[in-house]
Amino acid sequence: MVSTVSTTPAPAETPADVVARLRATFRTGRTRPLAWRTEQLRRLRRMLTEEGAELIAALHADLGKSEAEARRTEIDFTVREIDHTLDHLDQWLAPRPAPVPAFLGDATAWTVLDPLGVVLVIAPWNYPAQLLLAPVVGALASGNCVVAKPSELAPATSAALARLLPRHLDTDAVAVVEGGVPETTALLEQRFDHILYTGNATVGRVVMTAAARHLTPVTLELGGKSPAFVDAGTDPAVVAARLAAGKFLNAGQTCVAPDYVLTDPGTARALEAALADAVRGLYGPDPAASPEYGRIVNERHFDRLTALLGSGRTVVGGEHDRATRYIAPTVLAEVPADAPVMREEIFGPILPIVEVAGVDEAIAFINGREKPLALYAFTDSAEVRRRLTAETSSGGLGFGLPVAHLTVPDLPFGGVGESGMGRYHGHWSIETFSHRKAVLGKPLG
Ligand code: NAD
Repeated sequence: MVSTVSTTPAPAETPADVVARLRATFRTGRTRPLAWRTEQLRRLRRMLTEEGAELIAALHADLGKSEAEARRTEIDFTVREIDHTLDHLDQWLAPRPAPVPAFLGDATAWTVLDPLGVVLVIAPWNYPAQLLLAPVVGALASGNCVVAKPSELAPATSAALARLLPRHLDTDAVAVVEGGVPETTALLEQRFDHILYTGNATVGRVVMTAAARHLTPVTLELGGKSPAFVDAGTDPAVVAARLAAGKFLNAGQTCVAPDYVLTDPGTARALEAALADAVRGLYGPDPAASPEYGRIVNERHFDRLTALLGSGRTVVGGEHDRATRYIAPTVLAEVPADAPVMREEIFGPILPIVEVAGVDEAIAFINGREKPLALYAFTDSAEVRRRLTAETSSGGLGFGLPVAHLTVPDLPFGGVGESGMGRYHGHWSIETFSHRKAVLGKPLG
């Protein structure tokens, strides 16, 4: 279903129609001027501030997100991305000089950024507003037209975005296409100039295969098991509070959530008790009654997650209720490395602790698996930090605080290997959604 604003009811547009319409707009050059780009960003900002309540209600309906969490992780996050882009866009778009070798005499060289054309953004359900809109910010700031495809698994948010975006943005340049697999498959048959996909690696392969037919470049924002190494000698209360806040945000349905803990047996014992305290500190004695604690997106994911609860020894949590899709914040101790909960990305509120002898074994454990989207380490040792930086590979690396690296506007956000390719946020989005064109000039006289 395509949402556009029109005075007369138009017959439903096919994906080919939508792309052709947007491409025609792009060819007029209307999306290139800085003024058009900043106007779209300001309108998107207005949409988020004036119609935030509609989005917050939708996020609550889809994921039980509290208003505070919806504001912090979806609406305010995107507003900050817009503000940062508005503050710096002219500077990011300025031509960049490049040194010229002596044999070219008085020639000069520089690069300029060209918009790509029509960009497709495909978003997942877990942060269904932020993960659609933050890439749209970058695509518009780069002077492109955009087809935005929200996740059908967050249906209320998808519908709200399909209503709101056309009301606020230039509908000749931005289209929302709602739907699931058939609609996305039909979209992927079209020729785009860039595709940014956020979701799982299986569908990532589908997207990349479809893109290859048109030689369309892709950014794949995927997931995986992000480890958290806890060094001996760290304060268990501090570590547990930060781990729990990062893990149980959005009921664990966060791509950069710490997936599991790696630590030595002595530290594990202290951490178990501290994690139980941290969960009570965040959500009280009964998280089911806490307005701050979310729900699992659907029954399929609920069933998948409850099947993982059997591993190890339950330190806190374990309670669940299918009718309300509630799974308590759960910590599992002494989990074997080959337990079911260690075989796939958890993407829910279950935190296993796997014991290793120390940092050498932790590094070997991490390097024995796919490259994660994020690696976290709690340590005050400069040498351990240095080794983790130099001897492991991950999309991002956080010392002492999980999840927060993606809130730093000019840090690139993206994975490596099985956790994705490409990056966005801040000026990295401009590099992703533009072509950096090489230019050489030599005077004729
Ligand atoms: P999802 O099921 O909502 O799918 C994502 C998108 O892919 C949706 O828009 C959906 O319509 C589309 N899709 C699904 N099947 C398709 C198919 N066969 N062909 C074409 N399109 C299809 O979300 P999900 O994949 O369950 O999301 C969870 C995963 O996403 C986790 O692995 C998580 O780590 C990862 N993730 C990564 C990031 C990141 O920024 N790197 C952010 C959030 C989630």
